[in-house]
Amino acid sequence: MTDEGVEVLLLSAGADLPWLCGYDAMGLERLTLLVLPREGDATLLVPRLEAARVVERPGVFNLMTWQDGEDPVGIATDLVGSVAKAAIGDQTWAGFLMDFTKVLPRTSFVRASQVTAPLRMVKDATEVSALRQAAWAIDRVISEVQTGIIPLAGRSESEVAADLARRIIEEGHQRVNFVIVASGPNAASPHHDAGKRIIQDGEGILFDIGGTMSDNEGVGYCSDITRCVHLGEPPQGFVEIYGVLHEAQEAGVAAARVGTPCEEVDAACRKIIGEAGYGEFFVHRTGHGIGVEAHEHPNIVVGNDLPLAVGHVFSVEPGIYIPGSWGVRLEDIVTTGEAGPDSLNCADRQLAILS
Ligand code: ZN
Ligand code: ZN
Ligand code: ZN
Repeated sequence: MTDEGVEVLLLSAGADLPWLCGYDAMGLERLTLLVLPREGDATLLVPRLEAARVVERPGVFNLMTWQDGEDPVGIATDLVGSVAKAAIGDQTWAGFLMDFTKVLPRTSFVRASQVTAPLRMVKDATEVSALRQAAWAIDRVISEVQTGIIPLAGRSESEVAADLARRIIEEGHQRVNFVIVASGPNAASPHHDAGKRIIQDGEGILFDIGGTMSDNEGVGYCSDITRCVHLGEPPQGFVEIYGVLHEAQEAGVAAARVGTPCEEVDAACRKIIGEAGYGEFFVHRTGHGIGVEAHEHPNIVVGNDLPLAVGHVFSVEPGIYIPGSWGVRLEDIVTTGEAGPDSLNCADRQLAILS
């Protein structure tokens, strides 16, 4: 906060609040706000009816409630006092920020992530271990589609997605964050939502699944993995594209060493896909950070010159998408270790061919 000239941090909905103090606000229209001044005690202001959800942590924050009929923005404003610069949670309702700018016209507001992202991005050993547990859990789930334990042919994408969601919970996650099951031409849409399409023999299917798994302190860490399978012998073009993808993903992981700028990991993947002639079909960044949120800093993207450091954890997930025909993506969560890149996911990276 001192580095950024921020006098008070205001945290509402979003992951910064639980990461700092273990309390996850309900992202509803009633204001929850942690008011954390640079000096002095923090106050967690919550709607009275949600006070029972709070595990009190004396020495971390003082608890204060407001009740329906009162003006929470007014109460929060008194707590904030007169400050020149406040950082407010990126996912706070825009309406609350608009109210604050009206009652605090001399305060300038910046994104809380300016303060929190550099802290959250570098995971300590406990956090890396929580992410590894989550990665191993999601590996166990994805291996069931790779080995044919979860049947695919003749079923709809959403039926298969429901099986996967159940298995994600059974393997120890508290929450399912996403289950992408994209069959045949649907796989050319990177964020395809599982739908009614019936999975058929002779086509490829892309799975991208993840959830949140809680550690002992109740703060959850996320998993995220992508693998592809093909029902029956894949056509030559599919095998070729998958080979390029696999090589690109390995190159990206190998580049993820301490001191390498994030954008060079992206470039390592993009070079191989580009040289094979598929550059225009790799339509997204190579990866994103992961932690208490499925997507957080650092982004593995052109323009991000942040050097990788020990404790950074992020995805390496290049993809090749041919509109109307098929798509493939291969994703692992990787951490930059002292000794080099360390892939938290261990599930088989070959194209799984099922009969
Ligand atoms: Zn994605
Ligand atoms: Zn993913
Ligand atoms: Zn991802």
